[in-house]
Amino acid sequence: MNNERKNLYFFYRQTEEVLQKITPLISLAKQHGFTIVDDAQSANVIVAIGGDGAFLQAVRKTGFRNDALYVGMSTGELGFYCDFTIEDHEGLLHAMKSENIEVRKYPTLKVTIDEEDTTFHCLNECSIRSSVIKTFAMDVFIDDLYFETFRGDGMIVSTPTGSTAYTKSLNGSIVDPMLRCYQVSELASLNNNHYRTLGSSFLLSDQRKLTFKIQQENSQFPIIGMDNEALSSKHSEVISFQLSDVVIKTVKLKNNSFWHKVKRSFL
Ligand code: NAP
Ligand code: MN
Repeated sequence: MNNERKNLYFFYRQTEEVLQKITPLISLAKQHGFTIVDDAQSANVIVAIGGDGAFLQAVRKTGFRNDALYVGMSTGELGFYCDFTIEDHEGLLHAMKSENIEVRKYPTLKVTIDEEDTTFHCLNECSIRSSVIKTFAMDVFIDDLYFETFRGDGMIVSTPTGSTAYTKSLNGSIVDPMLRCYQVSELASLNNNHYRTLGSSFLLSDQRKLTFKIQQENSQFPIIGMDNEALSSKHSEVISFQLSDVVIKTVKLKNNSFWHKVKRSFL
């Protein structure tokens, strides 16, 4: 990738602590010929300050830009999307100034609610969960195949990079983001003589479409979460999923592959 990436946008929560830490970073970036912009749309580099949760918010609030480079800077420890700590000014500038910035591309999920009405993107996962103390049921389709009827707390549909987050808590597999696929995991399914689901998590290729048709039994609808944000509309009946053409690009550093991160975080 050519280094024409000179317009930086900083995404952060304005706390005293963060402001103190990014002020020197901003002046250093200006000294090195970068322009700091106020509007994310005119930026070609979007720097998210915080943790992985802040990175997810930065990507969402700036509209899943396919043509921008996202950089995660952690105010704590390094994370999955945070390749730099906030103190690491030199590391960031060195990476940004290199002749050809190498990038990692993370697949995202496209979620369509109620037949083309609205589409959303997710970088970690989309979660469908009962909003009340009772279970809910939905029919699950893979392409045109009726696959199963799920009854329980919900289901999580995750990207490869989301596999180390919610999906990992559900005993899903950790998926290499170089694989273009998405993973489906159950949240406490009922399994008895009336209800039967697969039980294990499964992976779908980027050629497949997954559809949930929610069974309406009373006025309660499940809640839908996109990464760390809840969807406000509560009456969705048909939810379908596909891998999106949109990829999120981050800086590729040496010795910081996905598997370095998995080892660093979990082993
Ligand atoms: P949170 O509840 O404050 O954070 C959950 C933890 O997950 C944080 O430690 C966060 O890191 C980490 N995390 C986020 N994305 C990750 C990834 N791709 N791989 C590994 N760890 C990751 O909420 P949040 O910080 O806004 O993060 C939202 C995510 O939390 C959701 O997308 C979902 O995956 C996850 N979540 C998990 C459960 C569960 O495991 N039971 C339940 C709900 C949500 P930072 O501290 O760096 O932010
Ligand atoms: Mn967080």
